[in-house]
Amino acid sequence: MRADLSVEELQALVRTVPDFPKPGIQFRDITTLIGHADGFASSVRHLAVLAKKAGAQKIAGMEARGFIFGAAVAVELGVGFVPIRKPGKLPVATIGVEYDLEYGTDRLEMDPQAVAEGERVMIVDDLIATGGTALAAAQLLRMAGASVDSAAFVIDLPDLSGAQKLREAGVDVSVLMHFDGD
Ligand code: AMP
Repeated sequence: MRADLSVEELQALVRTVPDFPKPGIQFRDITTLIGHADGFASSVRHLAVLAKKAGAQKIAGMEARGFIFGAAVAVELGVGFVPIRKPGKLPVATIGVEYDLEYGTDRLEMDPQAVAEGERVMIVDDLIATGGTALAAAQLLRMAGASVDSAAFVIDLPDLSGAQKLREAGVDVSVLMHFDGD
């Protein structure tokens, strides 16, 4: 039987790498969390409890780290998984959304057939910072007809207000832990 780690124990497994990818950023690295068998499994179980409470009928995760947690949560919950992809990766006609980054823009794409009309889809990612990525994912899923009223993240950086922005867009946000700063 695997041990269930507390959120405090999980937080201790996240490695902080200063000045990555650029000076001043504290990169919260989940490599060390997912490399720990009980740490990874417990994070997934904690997220799956939140997804069950939210009544999620499907989980959507953003490339790439959202795939790690999102896919595992979907299996734990017994529902399907929707990959939200970087441009040009899907072999079918896609729908896409452009969103602003600190410098420039980025784009997310999905297969519009991946969700049914009105299906309750929960967004799962490793971390929410400014919320730009998660907001774009919510917009995209809604364009495809999904009902998106919940999202769950392993880590929140509350100083960047992403969770607040998502809540203002009608998405209920749950997180396992938070770190101060950006
Ligand atoms: P955002 O769109 O600003 O909410 O950024 C969210 C995405 O960027 C997440 O998918 C994270 O994987 C990544 N990210 C942003 N800031 C950090 C950070 N300080 N440490 C680790 N990952 C980050």
